[in-house]
Amino acid sequence: MKVMKKAILISVATSVAVLLLIMFVSYSGFSSATTYYAHEPTEPISSFSPLLRQTTMQYGSTYTIENLNGPLFAYIVFPTANNFADAPIFAWVYDVYQTAIDNIMFLRTTDSSIMGELNIQFDSYLLENSPFASVVLKGALNVDTAETANIIRTFNLNLESETFLETWDIFDRSQAEYILQNLSQRLVIARPELSTRLPTLNVSNVSLLENVAIGNNGIHVILELSEVVAGYFGTLEVIIPYADIYSALLIDVGISSEQQPVIAGVAEIDPSRPMVALTFDDGPSMYTPQILDILERYEVNATFFVIGNLVERRIDVVRRASESGSDVFGHSWDHSDLTRLSTAAMRQQLLDTANIIERATGVYPYSFRPTYGRVNNDVLNIAQELDFSMFNWSIDTEDWKSRNADAIYQHVIDRVTNSDIILFHDLYSSTVEAIEMLVPELLARGYQLVTISELMHYSGVEVEPGRVIRHGNRYVNLN
Ligand code: ZN
Repeated sequence: MKVMKKAILISVATSVAVLLLIMFVSYSGFSSATTYYAHEPTEPISSFSPLLRQTTMQYGSTYTIENLNGPLFAYIVFPTANNFADAPIFAWVYDVYQTAIDNIMFLRTTDSSIMGELNIQFDSYLLENSPFASVVLKGALNVDTAETANIIRTFNLNLESETFLETWDIFDRSQAEYILQNLSQRLVIARPELSTRLPTLNVSNVSLLENVAIGNNGIHVILELSEVVAGYFGTLEVIIPYADIYSALLIDVGISSEQQPVIAGVAEIDPSRPMVALTFDDGPSMYTPQILDILERYEVNATFFVIGNLVERRIDVVRRASESGSDVFGHSWDHSDLTRLSTAAMRQQLLDTANIIERATGVYPYSFRPTYGRVNNDVLNIAQELDFSMFNWSIDTEDWKSRNADAIYQHVIDRVTNSDIILFHDLYSSTVEAIEMLVPELLARGYQLVTISELMHYSGVEVEPGRVIRHGNRYVNLN
């Protein structure tokens, strides 16, 4: 477990200081080694830090503050849109930047070699059929000799009334308990490997809702992992779909209350009954929608381990899988055998795939399946470094070999037991046919068909970054 500790206190003024307003108006003439200029990031942001991933920019154009020479290396991107929100957003950014410089300068009075690095990145959302836009700023300040400070700030904008919305302008405060219950479920789905450590949230955790954003499909909650799991650090962003919290919303986000919750929900699983996880590798493909049709018809979920370079051309399919409640995890960028790659190439395969999945689904996957199920020490170390857990399987249907629906069906039925993780490939019509037969038969035999996240949550398996899991705990759920 890579532990990033937090000690530096960044005091961030959230109000708009008149002084900073003046600076904003005249910042083009600001004199220092710092360059302020607007441009699209020229390098993939992940080369700076896995924390920094710009996934969605629907509001504003990118403005960059770069200081690549000073004792504080700074790379900050934030949005500008020539409206009322620019000055407060800039004021916040500038305050973080200036506070970081002040910190470094203070530390350098005792040790002049001390250097720091400040990275801030943003996502922005613009809602259709509503006046709302949201900006999510995330980043970190790393200082030699000190510990990493995470930086999180959201701005929610009503573009019509030109006002900002805080959490309790968006949510009905009397519904806090209900919202936090939903957040509990989403945390388990977002970080299944932590599921046994995650607390069940209640109103005493209301501070977790400090940074929320109005996203396209739901409210994003951005928090520090250490706030929910002691000893774990970093930021975590989860999305609570609108359909799940519609009754707690004070704003009209332009969706109808008729929409059903987009996920069956963790609560509907009975942990005392057996469960298995169907998993599909190497997609998305032309067959993936047919698999989803079957899963949706029976209201069950599965897990898709996708190839990164296939996601773009079937991004809607990947989004649909996630929105209907299935897990979407990575299976490398191009199906290279990870154990034959350099560590740099290996890391790139995992990060690029995770990033494009996040772009498709809004959920950053901290889990993957190694290609061919193969790992070596380098794969294990990098998974640990990136906080990624690995999931192989306990039943291999060999569907790629037989390409025969009856053989695939029989292979599973002859072997299946509680907590199995079953490997298929959503690449063949024979697999689709087998799934069409297997889903009703498994349900008839009393199995709940769950995602990997759900299986881990209910099996109580201690999932840890860098560890390969092959099945849920077979014994926990048996009466
Ligand atoms: Zn594969």
